[in-house]
Amino acid sequence: MRHPRITSPIIMASFTAAAILVGVLTVRQVTKFFDGLPPPGTLQEGAGDPAAAGPPRTAMNPLIPLAPPPHSISEHVIAKNSTLARTLQNLGFLAPERATILSALKPWASPTRLIAGTQLKAYILNAEDNYPKRFDLHLDKNTIVRFSKQSSGNWTASNYEPPLERRVASYSGVVNGSLWNSAAGAGMDPQIISRLTEIFGWQVDFHREVQRGDRWRLTVERFYSEGKPVRLGEIIAAEYDNDGNINTAVLAPDEGQYYTPEGNSLRRMFLRSPLRFARITSGFNAHRFHPILHIAKPHLGIDYGAATGTPIMAVGAGTVALAAYHGASGNTVTLRHNSVYSTHYKHLSRFAADVHPGSRVKMGQIIGYVGRTGLATGPHLHFELHANGRYVDPSGIRLPTADPLPTKQLASFKAVASKALSELPPWSAGLLTDARRASRHSDDEEKTQ
Ligand SMILES: [Zn+2]
Repeated sequence: MRHPRITSPIIMASFTAAAILVGVLTVRQVTKFFDGLPPPGTLQEGAGDPAAAGPPRTAMNPLIPLAPPPHSISEHVIAKNSTLARTLQNLGFLAPERATILSALKPWASPTRLIAGTQLKAYILNAEDNYPKRFDLHLDKNTIVRFSKQSSGNWTASNYEPPLERRVASYSGVVNGSLWNSAAGAGMDPQIISRLTEIFGWQVDFHREVQRGDRWRLTVERFYSEGKPVRLGEIIAAEYDNDGNINTAVLAPDEGQYYTPEGNSLRRMFLRSPLRFARITSGFNAHRFHPILHIAKPHLGIDYGAATGTPIMAVGAGTVALAAYHGASGNTVTLRHNSVYSTHYKHLSRFAADVHPGSRVKMGQIIGYVGRTGLATGPHLHFELHANGRYVDPSGIRLPTADPLPTKQLASFKAVASKALSELPPWSAGLLTDARRASRHSDDEEKTQ
């Protein structure tokens, strides 16, 4: 399925399972991401143009002068070895009128070079007219030029954007193998699954935590132009069942962000610091590194001075990837937060009792205690943040807002959420039915794609 107009969102969507999570190494990336999606306020709902939607369409009857039924639309094509001028002549236009029309077309195309098959839609506006006073020339899939006869008798031409019709499609499925393959098996556009992983990127590590038998269900907007799908809109509501934990997201249309049905943000911000009372004794400095001489050593983390035994908190929820003595780093804890971020805590005097590789930790949970194990001149915590395997300056990073919805919006959002959730399709049956049979609920037009 091709959606040429959504090239930019496609690109944005695909680099994001990374990028959004990414929370983003810079504010600019966040902005870019949101720019990549149409703000909900701009979405057009339903058909709005009475001229396009109102009059009944006459049968295709190319190259024959229009009979004059009132308010009619007829469709024509430029025939092989014909021209726009001849097509217009067949529609009843006389030479002087044809000349002004051809001239008005020139900013878009050379009138003599229109290819055979170019579509033309002609509108008889009044019962007493004997030839169209308006017509649309479909130059290509994305360009429609609308010609209108002015009261002065002149013809003007302008780009015409047909009104978009909003429909809601719904999908559900079960993971059997990879999420991506299962989604494709359920007939989902890869963009939709990409958006789903963005929405739940802080709840589920889609690179590591997807389980066979995980399920999803969602509703998504699709926009149609003259009956043809042109682009995806937003996911309206979605649920992802990760190994029995059901994560729910509903779009708050005014915010353009997703929240739980209770109005909490789905983004999880990291704590500012792994220590409750932090005193930075050595900051992040990547510029000390000399790429050729390799003599200076950059400081790729932050040192917090604190007394031995000071509790260290996980800056975000995650899974323990390492909790062991590790050479010069001494006792080290590594937490993996999602597919993008990990944090590293070094020189610990000891680990918290329940911190073992594979165990889950919550944001703020105590994972160990400050010490001076490994190569350390005194008790301190060396803390690192990695994004996509690279060192990041934790103090320089701006993470997306995790604020809940403002209280005054909560009541109306809860109503929106309750309706959106009631419109979700049923969950797919379990794996026994096979992912290929993952049900796909949609309207008839969706099935024809
Ligand atoms: Zn350090």
